[in-house]
Amino acid sequence: DLGRPSASRSPTASQKRGSENTFPCAAVEVKNEPVLGFTPGSAERNELQKALDGLKGKTEEIPCVVGDEHVWTEDVRYQLSPFNHSHKVAKFCYADEALINRAIMASVAARKEWDLTPVQDRAQVLFKAADLLSGPKRAEVLAKTMIGQGKTVVQAEIDAAAELIDFFRFNAKHAVELEDQQPLDADGSTNTMLYRGLEGFVAAVSPFNFTAIGGNLAGTPALMGNVVLWKPSDAAVSASYVVYRALRASGLPPNVIQFLPADGPVFGDAVTASEHLAGVNFTGSFPTFKRLWKQVAQNVDSYRTFPRLAGECGGKNFHFVHKSAHVESVVKGTVRSAFEYGGQKCSACSRMYVPDSLWPLIRDQLLDIHRQLKVGDSFARIKKWLDRAKTSSTLKVVAGGNYDDSKGYFVEPTIIETTDPRDAIMSEEIFGPVLAVYVYPENDYKEVLQLIDSTSPFALTGAVFALDK
Ligand code: NAD
Repeated sequence: DLGRPSASRSPTASQKRGSENTFPCAAVEVKNEPVLGFTPGSAERNELQKALDGLKGKTEEIPCVVGDEHVWTEDVRYQLSPFNHSHKVAKFCYADEALINRAIMASVAARKEWDLTPVQDRAQVLFKAADLLSGPKRAEVLAKTMIGQGKTVVQAEIDAAAELIDFFRFNAKHAVELEDQQPLDADGSTNTMLYRGLEGFVAAVSPFNFTAIGGNLAGTPALMGNVVLWKPSDAAVSASYVVYRALRASGLPPNVIQFLPADGPVFGDAVTASEHLAGVNFTGSFPTFKRLWKQVAQNVDSYRTFPRLAGECGGKNFHFVHKSAHVESVVKGTVRSAFEYGGQKCSACSRMYVPDSLWPLIRDQLLDIHRQLKVGDSFARIKKWLDRAKTSSTLKVVAGGNYDDSKGYFVEPTIIETTDPRDAIMSEEIFGPVLAVYVYPENDYKEVLQLIDSTSPFALTGAVFALDK
């Protein structure tokens, strides 16, 4: 709870300017959204079950939205349920270059009025959207995240409800409080800092794996007074549209966020070619962000401003196990991190370094739990790693290794031991339920720490298991 008593606040920019604004949001206390239990018989479970039943066999039609207009291009696409790809979850269309350019011009035209809207009013949109998602829209956004992105109820709840609601509430509160950060006045002079949006539009490009990330990438720049073109992932269109509609239903004016499913490169090419590009707010893979960055650099002479680039990219997250580690923590932490949501989290553990003295014990316990795991979903990219492991002389499949795409995209949680710590399986992101293990002589741990640091360009997350501080 980051709420501070309003009495302790210094004068805000508008108070200094003599505005009549009373800053109702600044005193709002925000708390982390509770993660609901969905126990049998609970109200939330019944509502979710109803929402899931309502989606069975249904295909929702989702247009591109520019301003208030629902637009259909001829390039029609489908979002398939990853665990049952005969179920078309959504029918949508790709925005083409002309539509993207139309959206850019409509956004830029709406920019000034939105930017001049007091931050308290902009924040109210996010507070209301958070309330909608926390209440009447919770079951819908969860059900669409489960069916469309292949999440369990727990994984959907911590993403599409808890995290997204927290993003909206905390960001709105912080945006309002930011206005309190003001330079000091001096004798005879009044100094005011004005926080304002970028002069142009922000392109928000979101990944398939988190509903919350799409809402945040598009919603937060809008909160700060920007106009946004939001390109959701093809594999998350259904839940993303719920979030977009929640924002609109909460008072977000038309043209502040344009909802534009599109082919990735077509969207990237169009937005980076526009002189009005002011920012890219991206989460996704390393190669995609590099491509966008290069295009921005190539076009830098043609922009009206210097576009701000923010990218959250991939990882090759490690677990380093020291000989003093608590084995049960290692085993449970590793199974959850590597295999939850089919290993499709940017923070999923994907490589592990284990001392030789502990490996037999850790391996046996991992295999015990592995036998009880139910197979989830994910596919083609991962298949090639499993095929490779079966033929390589330095890789050994210790558990799992099978896959099947006859009904949905199913990959067995897999543990692969490698004798070559520089093998690509230790350095490249797989984004699936595959854990690579390198067993090291227990006293060589200092060299192994160097090895971890120098093996992969990624530095997103990692964990150290040791009792010896
Ligand atoms: P991706 O890079 O394939 O796609 C991300 C988005 O970029 C999608 O909307 C896609 O359509 C779009 N895109 C593709 N090519 C484009 C182009 N040329 N121009 C503009 N947009 C383009 O990533 P993904 O498979 O959807 O998501 C998984 C990746 O995201 C993993 O690498 C994961 O680590 C990363 N991720 C990181 C975080 C983090 O917080 N660091 C969080 C979630 C996911």
